Amino acid sequence: MEPYVPGEQPDELGGVVKLNTNENPYPPSPAVADVLRRFDCSSLRLYPDAMAKDFQQAAAEVLALPADWIIPGNGSDDLIIMIIRSALRAGRSVVYPTPTFPYYRTQGQVAGCDIIEVPTGQAEGFAIPIEALAKAAGDVTFLANPNSPTGAWVEPDRLDWLAGQLDGLLVIDEAYADFAQANALKLAARRDNVIILRTLSKGYSLAGLRLGFGVARPGLRRELLKTKAIYNVGALPAAVGAAAIADQAYHRQCVEKILAQRERLGRELGERHCTVWPGEGNFLMVSPPGGDSKNICQKLKARGVLVRYFNQDDMKDKLRISVGSAEEVTAMLRAWDAR
Ligand SMILES: *Cc1c(COP(=O)(O)O)cnc(C)c1O
Repeated sequence: MEPYVPGEQPDELGGVVKLNTNENPYPPSPAVADVLRRFDCSSLRLYPDAMAKDFQQAAAEVLALPADWIIPGNGSDDLIIMIIRSALRAGRSVVYPTPTFPYYRTQGQVAGCDIIEVPTGQAEGFAIPIEALAKAAGDVTFLANPNSPTGAWVEPDRLDWLAGQLDGLLVIDEAYADFAQANALKLAARRDNVIILRTLSKGYSLAGLRLGFGVARPGLRRELLKTKAIYNVGALPAAVGAAAIADQAYHRQCVEKILAQRERLGRELGERHCTVWPGEGNFLMVSPPGGDSKNICQKLKARGVLVRYFNQDDMKDKLRISVGSAEEVTAMLRAWDAR
């Protein structure tokens, strides 16, 4: 199998404009620094609460759900592993649309599953193929909504229909839902085969902390917890994450700024004759005129701007560009014009 290849993380950031891994350009909430300053280091002597209770309660309050619907994870990657370990074994099937987050395939392969990829095409604007996903009838269907790297997004009502068609589990990966028009949280309440995944990596500026969570009805959640690593979330991430998710005012401010820059980035690249797909995440998929994406990626890098090029057939003429701060978008456009 092919290993998962993470986006480049430079050893030193010094002046680099980093728009390649969909991180948040803004620092985490000031409440995070407060927690770190006040953190009682001697408490690290003890094992943490196995369910990251502080965080679980804070998340439940923000989402207006009972705390026992939340499954804490060491990043949402950890939830993907847990779901596959709980629900699948060799000979069962994993279904997902492509292109998408490649980790569904990685973990499906580890479990020896049949991997069924449902391609989304340029002709259809990379729309998420709900009917074809239903027809594929996976034991587990993964759907990133908004999807990455395309930015495509589908209405929660259509996912409700999909969940109703499937006998297996529908995992709606909402890593980017903070930036979309709506989310599918209510489906986790309505459907006993739906799991929603959320992360603090993107919308809460905490990719380095490693904290994500799943939302599912208690019966399904109980099954998932059977394969959870015992102490998968440390005391420090739990405390920091609780403070970050509780600060919704700050979160909304950051999201608003990113949405304004997303609109600007799309407009400016459109004026530069790029094809820009409508994107509901904190990034845009674009195809530069001539489609020479690899070359452009290298030229931007030489000017200190990192964007993402995916060396795969369906992405060869495209780039995925994360939405940065106003200053970063300006720097990116300057590098684009100068190359
Ligand atoms: C970034 C991303 C994740 C990973 O989130 P972590 O919580 O940092 O592990 C999951 N799914 C998708 C689609 C992503 O883009």
